[in-house]
Amino acid sequence: MGTENPGRPSFSVRPSSAPPTATPFPSSGPLVGPEASSFRPTPPAPPQATGPFVSSGPPVGSDGSGFRPTAPLRFNDPSVSSTPTTYIPPTAGPFQRFPTPQFPSTAQGPPARAPPVGPPLVQPFASQVSTPPVSFRPQPPSVPMGFPAQRANFAPPSMNVPQAFSDSSFSAPRPSSQPSFTPVDSSYSSARATLQPPLPGYVNTQPNAVAQLPTMPSSYPSYPGSYVPPPPTSVSSFPAHQGGFTPPMSAATPPGMLSQHPGPPGGVMQGLAEEFSSLSFGSLPGSIEPGVDLKALPRPLEGDVEPNSFAEMYPLNCHSRYLRLTTTAIPNSSSLVSRWHLPLGAVVCPLAEAPSGEEVPIVNFASTGIIRCRRCRTYVNPYVTFTDAGRKWRCNICSLLNDVPGDYFAHLDATGRRIDLDQRPELTKGSVEFVAPTEYMVRPPMPPLYFFLIDVSISAIRSGMLEVVAETIKSCLDDLPGFPRTQIGFITYDSTIHFYNMKSSLTQPQMMVVSDLDDIFVPLPDDLLVNLSESRSVVGTFLDSLPTMFQDNVNVESAFGPALKAAFMVMSRLGGKLLIFQNSLPSLGVGRLKLRGDDVRVYGTDKEHALRIPEDPFYKQMAADLTKFQIAVNVYAFSDKYTDIASLGTLAKYTGGQVYYYPNFLSSLHGAKLTHELSRDLTRETAWEAVMRVRCGKGIRFTSYHGNFMLRSTDLLALPAVDCDKAYAMQLSLEETLLSTQTVYFQVALLYTASCGERRIRIHTLSAPVVSDLSEMYRQADTGAIVSLFSRLAIEKTLSHKLEDARNAVQQRIVKALKEYRNLHAVQHRLGARMIYPESLKYLTLYGLALCKSTPLRGGYADAPLDERCAAGYTMMALPIKNLLKLLYPSLIRVDDFLLKPSGDVKELLDNMKRLPLAAESLDSRGLYIYDDGFRFVIWFGKMLPPDVAMNLLGQDFAAELSKVSLSTRDNEMSRKLSKILEGLRMIDLSYHQLCHLVRQGEQPREGFLLLVNLVEDQIGGSSGYMDWVLQIHRQVQQNP
Ligand SMILES: [Zn+2]
Repeated sequence: MGTENPGRPSFSVRPSSAPPTATPFPSSGPLVGPEASSFRPTPPAPPQATGPFVSSGPPVGSDGSGFRPTAPLRFNDPSVSSTPTTYIPPTAGPFQRFPTPQFPSTAQGPPARAPPVGPPLVQPFASQVSTPPVSFRPQPPSVPMGFPAQRANFAPPSMNVPQAFSDSSFSAPRPSSQPSFTPVDSSYSSARATLQPPLPGYVNTQPNAVAQLPTMPSSYPSYPGSYVPPPPTSVSSFPAHQGGFTPPMSAATPPGMLSQHPGPPGGVMQGLAEEFSSLSFGSLPGSIEPGVDLKALPRPLEGDVEPNSFAEMYPLNCHSRYLRLTTTAIPNSSSLVSRWHLPLGAVVCPLAEAPSGEEVPIVNFASTGIIRCRRCRTYVNPYVTFTDAGRKWRCNICSLLNDVPGDYFAHLDATGRRIDLDQRPELTKGSVEFVAPTEYMVRPPMPPLYFFLIDVSISAIRSGMLEVVAETIKSCLDDLPGFPRTQIGFITYDSTIHFYNMKSSLTQPQMMVVSDLDDIFVPLPDDLLVNLSESRSVVGTFLDSLPTMFQDNVNVESAFGPALKAAFMVMSRLGGKLLIFQNSLPSLGVGRLKLRGDDVRVYGTDKEHALRIPEDPFYKQMAADLTKFQIAVNVYAFSDKYTDIASLGTLAKYTGGQVYYYPNFLSSLHGAKLTHELSRDLTRETAWEAVMRVRCGKGIRFTSYHGNFMLRSTDLLALPAVDCDKAYAMQLSLEETLLSTQTVYFQVALLYTASCGERRIRIHTLSAPVVSDLSEMYRQADTGAIVSLFSRLAIEKTLSHKLEDARNAVQQRIVKALKEYRNLHAVQHRLGARMIYPESLKYLTLYGLALCKSTPLRGGYADAPLDERCAAGYTMMALPIKNLLKLLYPSLIRVDDFLLKPSGDVKELLDNMKRLPLAAESLDSRGLYIYDDGFRFVIWFGKMLPPDVAMNLLGQDFAAELSKVSLSTRDNEMSRKLSKILEGLRMIDLSYHQLCHLVRQGEQPREGFLLLVNLVEDQIGGSSGYMDWVLQIHRQVQQNP
């Protein structure tokens, strides 16, 4: 990140005694004072329960681990902020919940299965399947993957690490009936499936729903306590919609597609008719089949467009890249929720990179203490109101009137605004970061810690993986966040485990080999994890010699499980990031995995899903233990053979980590990708030992969470490490039958340790109107957020159901939503054979198709290798919306014309990039195309591409088999231009590195699996094309319930 600057004094910009003013902050990351170690941390006592490791335990206060921060500043000195006048001790419950009644479970049955291809043969609303959805049961009975019910070993009393971390410092004491640590299974998708069942939970459409449809216009904002819509004469006060009621028919509207139907002219409803888009179906020329003009189908060729309609309405809201709701119109009643059919919830990316020019300000309340609501623990935000001449403030979430602390008092002006408002970013900005005082810690903030667990068996050597990993780590050593506190350590393994003593007094690292895999012990525990700045030269020497140390290794075994336990023992005192590099199937010791393999006979049976979940409970148990000790795991897997990513990935899934998969890795071909992605992983700004909670207004609550994390309590996400590349999705439900407020508020709070050693709380606050009108919900829908939540639910469903079931569930949910929407309009309009949908959801159908064709969900046995499927699933569970949408509907651009032009500005090309529909029809055999899904490029050479283009780009390789050719910049203008284009495309998003795969038209099977299978609009194999998909959905929408 380049923010570490060893010579810079820390905290000079923000004295701890300063009044709570905001300091504009250069970025969203904790970048100030990288070496600002204000502590001389006291390592907690080591875990006593881990056998031989006890010898390592330094007494409290020891810094034997080499963790010796030197900065004497006492920024977070307890004496400074230990007595805030209004601070309620943590025991008072910062995260107290509203004691509201449980939302009654709505009756539902899982959707019947509908084949993705062909006419809709099923009755979508039938619920013959009587078993409840098992996908979100805490413990799928068929597979022994859960934790033992007995959870005593989860938090051994002797382990003095952050057990109380969240509870005492960040969250409220919960009712005693709640477990202090929810079982892992339920954490992933919440055990409360009956409240708001993720995918299968469709509420049956009432046959008479049409008759109940409100015919009144939007009552937005809704009227509290009343369901009576405003009289027709009162036009909605929501300005964004004024003028939206009678949009002109666009002259440019493609044939067959009506945009924003104006409604019946002259009627009472004139000017108030709903807007919607539609597709007309008719016979296609030359065919008796009904169809629709393909060109008229909507396509998201602009990629994800961040919603901004509310930015004007609610300028105080946080930016949408931090928090997006699936609809920004919150339903006021549970009956509305049940008619919404799409997921109701939010997608949170708490550390998203700030929009340029909108850095998140940092606020230090110092001795005043952080201002929070006494009752619900909401943080002060732009939506609180001040009264009583400035002496009181009213909480926007629970309405409690709080005292304003003396230090925080300011007079109000004539309009009731605080006179110091412009110096208070926490009262004017939707996103803000508070410096947390010691009350928010149960131990001194941990130093950034990177631990590497590296496979050195023969395949790791031969693939070149070890060499690339060693080189990359070495090149990043000086850019790891948190200098000079950063800690580092290494373990390598094959059939034995190799430890490395990196003590700073050594000139060479010392290697110790442990071959007893059954009784792991850690030799020299104090010197395996060292302070990077002190041991910099030993670590550098080690990395230089690592590849050669094992270059002749012929060991084929992998004692992965025992090595993982050893790493856990070394790390458990501090926590941190564990990066695992695994090149083979774990074969020895605990956690060894067998070649379960991918069995074609299992597909289509009720055993299919078992392939996609870990078989050995070891992995989940380890993940739980790792999370408990603030360890996040990133798994890098490389093998060309089956490595059981389903099991390995579990480690990342429950620890807030990430899975990187490089099947069939060869350093000569894939080295650049690994180098880039590992570098980013190591140097991106990281939030450590974090917990996150999202509060929301009275009457609604989050009922399930989806992503890579573990739930620490019903609503507290444990995130040992978080960064800008991670997003989390959650579903909402109403706790009350009827919401009586006009607005609801959401507040994301991420408590974490910055790499500089400061404890911080990042807050994002957002408000949204409550509506009583279903069409308003649809109008304010956010397809990106919906698809994001949809994807996570569908992927989760593949862990307990057949792939086909997961796909059908996606399709049926879209059908239900569109049917409901159609019913809304059927009364007023003669819809005929038209398919109608809200403008806001015009891409939903296509994204639904793309999701069904995505690697985790597509086809069956033959359509994706099992490991690849599982790895993609883990990746997609964590992706921010923008990346996910790009992966689902990648960009396809043609570049040969540009390359042939004598001049041409690459930047201009990229700025005006014309993305093409993802269909084979877009490919002209005279052209050169780039396909970019954010993870890779496929460069397609048309058969009739002018030979000089191929010659210029490929040199003498132009006639060779392209699978063996790698693209490099050659000494000609065309080649340089192409390189610049690719570089420009990569710069759009740095989270992953796109490698180039070259393919020639007609070169099979490569063309098929690299490109054709990803052209989501085409009908390939047994999957539907876009047109068929639309027709299927349209037919099912038209069917009577
Ligand atoms: Zn409150």
